[in-house]
Amino acid sequence: MNEPGSEGYCPAPVPAAVPVRAEPGEPVAACVLCDEPTEYAADTPGAPMCPRCEWQQAQRGACSG
Ligand SMILES: [Zn+2]
Repeated sequence: MNEPGSEGYCPAPVPAAVPVRAEPGEPVAACVLCDEPTEYAADTPGAPMCPRCEWQQAQRGACSG
């Protein structure tokens, strides 16, 4: 296989499902961990977490080990 300039061969990297922030006035999703309201839209993809749980997850990620 030798196709110089074969654009489109490499698939675009699939981004992880990133929650979408809700617009002001929009309904928001509940935190997947504690059921508190989040800053994300109700129909957001991924697993929306409230600021508190996000912070705790970040702490765990940063301090694993
Ligand atoms: Zn939470």
